[in-house]
Amino acid sequence: MAAIPDVPVGTSTAVSGLESTFVDEMGGLSVLWQGAEVPDPKLLVLNEELAASLGLDAASLRSDDGVAVLTGSAVPVGSKPAAMAYAGHQFGGYAPLLGDGRALLLGELGDGAGGRVDLHLKGSGPTPFSRGGDGFAVVGPMLREYLVSEAMHALGIPTTRALAVVATGRPVHRNGIEPGAVLARVASSHLRVGTFEFAVRRGEILQSLADYAIARHYPGLTDLPATGKDNRYLAFFEAVLEAQASLVARWMLTGFVHGVMNTDNTTISGETIDYGPCAFLDAFDPAAVFSSIDHSGRYAFGNQPAVLKWNLARFAETLLRLVDSTPDDAITAVTAVLGSFEARYENHYTAGMAAKLGLSGASLERSLIDALLALMAEHGADWAGSFRALADELRGKAAPLDELVPREHIGPWLIRWRNALQQQGRGSAEAADAMDRVNPLYIPRNHQVDAALRAATAGDLTPFEELLEVVTHPFDRRDEWAEYALPAPRGFSDTFRTFCGT
Ligand code: AMP
Ligand code: MG
Repeated sequence: MAAIPDVPVGTSTAVSGLESTFVDEMGGLSVLWQGAEVPDPKLLVLNEELAASLGLDAASLRSDDGVAVLTGSAVPVGSKPAAMAYAGHQFGGYAPLLGDGRALLLGELGDGAGGRVDLHLKGSGPTPFSRGGDGFAVVGPMLREYLVSEAMHALGIPTTRALAVVATGRPVHRNGIEPGAVLARVASSHLRVGTFEFAVRRGEILQSLADYAIARHYPGLTDLPATGKDNRYLAFFEAVLEAQASLVARWMLTGFVHGVMNTDNTTISGETIDYGPCAFLDAFDPAAVFSSIDHSGRYAFGNQPAVLKWNLARFAETLLRLVDSTPDDAITAVTAVLGSFEARYENHYTAGMAAKLGLSGASLERSLIDALLALMAEHGADWAGSFRALADELRGKAAPLDELVPREHIGPWLIRWRNALQQQGRGSAEAADAMDRVNPLYIPRNHQVDAALRAATAGDLTPFEELLEVVTHPFDRRDEWAEYALPAPRGFSDTFRTFCGT
């Protein structure tokens, strides 16, 4: 571990009002810390709308002082930046000490709607948790997290948000030398399954952590008793399971491959976190893997619900002694909740799929979904494009669908689908419009993200800015954005790889 510096002293006034409930109340789960010096800071992108919603002044954030706060090199008056401790199962193996190896929790802010959010930096320099890593991050991956998390938000999927990316002027060794950067992100908290895996081995703090998480994310449960059959810890487990089942269903409906679903990347809030090796499907393929380190396909697209359940089982293990003092009874109780995962996931997925197909949940048979998925997989049909093409089909425009799946193959399925639509008494035009409201036209396509990030790394931010504008308006058709709706050239995804921890 690096030496612990003096407690950072705040001097900056660019950001005010930061609170530190996690640091103050969860002793032993963080280390006060400060970001590294930044040689030549340059603000690359600032989310002014998000800043405003948090009561932050955009002009102050753009000032030298504000940019220094956004890198962690300057500390706001009264704030207590800290690196958070956590453990985690990575690719199935347990790592007892991970933690913020290149990140800092700057503090917490009101979200403007009565809630509390974390302001957090990624790439701010080495910490006691760096484990031999350099503590830094580089422009491409930080802009990638900015772009994809803001796209997810625009798609209505719970996620951390991106506030800013600052280039640091520091050369960082990756595959060669790359320009360093810090991402400022906002999350409803950074509590993870891994935080509980760390705390469970540290005695009393476990219960305090669970109570803190309940108060922050599931306040409706705070009045439940601490012990007994209907205790708040079992209800807490159920609430997290429900939030995560809903989240992973949203990923599966959107064609999102997270890529590194380790337990330290599974939040307690139910938000998507950590956009390292993530990617969106072009051609539908349940076995799709994009991460360069996922050799076994553990985190393949189609495995995501099962892996999530596995992660939730690790979470349940941390809560056992809170759920019931008799171990066997605790195991029975959490196992029953865990057993409800598939049905909950299925409910979310089927309801979402019904909406994507212009149907009401009640009028959709699972076999209709499965038959469509089989056709899409067989023909490598573009995931996002297929649902837009089906809506066009209802409008009498056959060409888009013809490009994806041969008509002689999808014909029988189309008849079944139209029958289902007819049965629920919804007109074709009405169903098509409803479909277009839930099926995005623009998602962050891998080939476009890749090109925009290459240009940004080389100093040209224009393609990134344009792509950001497009993917944060995923349902707004504009003629000049036509190329953004197109899938990657066939074959691109076969070789496209993403990198973790870069
Ligand atoms: P991630 O893959 O981003 O979820 O990171 C997993 C763990 O590796 C976390 O504990 C990170 O803080 C740590 N980590 C990733 N990259 C670095 C780096 N360049 N320096 C230090 N720690 C890192
Ligand atoms: Mg992570």
